[in-house]
Amino acid sequence: MFPFQYKNNSLHCDSVALTTLAQEFGTPLYVYSANRVRENFRRLVNAFAKINPTICYSVKANSNLSLLKILKDEGASFDIVSGGELFRVLKINADAERIVFAGVGKTESEIDFALQSNVGWINVESEGELIRVNQRARRLGVSAVVAIRLRPDVDAATHHHISTGHTTSKFGVPVSLALKMTRMKLSNVKIRGAHIHIGSQLGNPEATLKAIEVALDFVARANQAGAEIDALDVGGGFPVAYRADDPKPDIESFAAPIVERLSQSPIKNFHLEPGRFIIADTAALMTTVQYVKDRIAIVDAGMQTLIRPALYEAYHQVLPVEQVGQVSNLSYDVAGPICESSDFLARDRELPNLKSGDLLALTHAGAYGFSMASNYNSHPLPAEVLVEGERYRVIRQRQTLDDLIKFEDGSSIRQ
Ligand SMILES: *Cc1c(COP(=O)(O)O)cnc(C)c1O
Repeated sequence: MFPFQYKNNSLHCDSVALTTLAQEFGTPLYVYSANRVRENFRRLVNAFAKINPTICYSVKANSNLSLLKILKDEGASFDIVSGGELFRVLKINADAERIVFAGVGKTESEIDFALQSNVGWINVESEGELIRVNQRARRLGVSAVVAIRLRPDVDAATHHHISTGHTTSKFGVPVSLALKMTRMKLSNVKIRGAHIHIGSQLGNPEATLKAIEVALDFVARANQAGAEIDALDVGGGFPVAYRADDPKPDIESFAAPIVERLSQSPIKNFHLEPGRFIIADTAALMTTVQYVKDRIAIVDAGMQTLIRPALYEAYHQVLPVEQVGQVSNLSYDVAGPICESSDFLARDRELPNLKSGDLLALTHAGAYGFSMASNYNSHPLPAEVLVEGERYRVIRQRQTLDDLIKFEDGSSIRQ
C-alpha cells in the first residue's frame, strides 16, 4: 500500500504522523517507508519470476546505506556506476560476485577497485574501456567477466517519450563494433554478457522488446563466431506513475511481454537494473512554508534538496501535512529559497490557504531525490528518516554548518 495516507486529517508514513517527525527532526526532511521498499522489490520479483533474474538495484537512484541494507536482506544485488557506489555496497557486505558495474567513464583506479573486490560483472561501454579492463586485469593477474553495453538504436520516431541508444548517445556501442569487440584477442577478459538500458521512465515495453531483439540477435551472431555469451542484462527504467492520472502501465503489465519473450530465448541468465521503480514512491520530502507571496509559497526545500522539478520539469504531488478547514481551491506555485529563477518544486497546485509555518509533503521523492541533493547556496544536506511501521530512526543526520566547511582549511602551502 502507498505509505503516505491521511489518518484523522493528518498525513502519515505508515503508522507515524509526519508532523511528529518534522517536530523532532526539522525540515527539509526525507521520510522513507521501509515496508514500501520491500513491497516494491517483491512486486518486481514476482513480475519477472518466470525468468528468475538477478535484480540489481541501481544504487544511483538512492544510495543510503540503510536502504541498501533492506534491499540486500530482500535478496537484491546492486548495479553501481562508480567507485564510490562500490565502496557503499561493500560496506553493507553485498555479494560482490553478483554486482554489475556500469557507466561510461570508469577510471583505471575504479576498474582496479572493482577487480580487486571481485565484482562479478563489468559492463563495458566502449572499445577503449574493454582494452583498459583487459590491461588492468592482466596487471592484477585476474580474469574480468564483462558484458558489452549495446546501443540498440531503437526507433525513437515511434517512441518519442524515450530518448534511447542512438548514434548520438554517449552510452554503449553499436552492434557492429560489439561484434568486433567479441573477436578481439584479449587474454584477461571473458565477454559473457550483453547489456541494454535504453532509458528511464519507459512508457511501454515496446522499445525494450525491440532492444531485446537486437541484443538476442547480437548474441546469436557473436556465439556463431565463437563467442561464449550466456547472459543478458535488460537494464532498468521501469515506469513509475508520479500522479494519479499518469497513464504509465503497472509493473505487471510492463513485465509480462518482456518475460514472455525472454523465457523463449536460449539465454537463461538475466540481470535487471531497476532504480526508480523500487525507491521512488517510498519517500516524501517534508518542507515548511516560510512566506506566501501572492500565489507563491516559498518553502525551506528547493532545488538543493530535490532538483528534479528544476532539472527536468518533473512532477511531484504536493500534499498539506495537516488537512485543516476547507480546501480553498487556491492555486499555488511552490518555490525554494535558492537564487535561481528555475528553483520551483511545483507549479499551479490547488492547496488549502497556506501560511508561514505550514508543513507540506512532496511524494514520490525517493528516487533521484537525496542522491542528487547538493550544498548549493551553502544549505546543509537534509536529514533522512526511515519508518518501520510504528517506529522510526534517522538514517542520515542533517549536515551541520561545520560540515559545510570541513574540507576548506586551505592553509597548507606548497610550491
Ligand atoms: C540509471 C540506470 C539504471 C536505473 O534506471 P531507473 O530508471 O532508475 O530504473 C539502470 N541501469 C543503468 C545502466 C543506469 O544508468
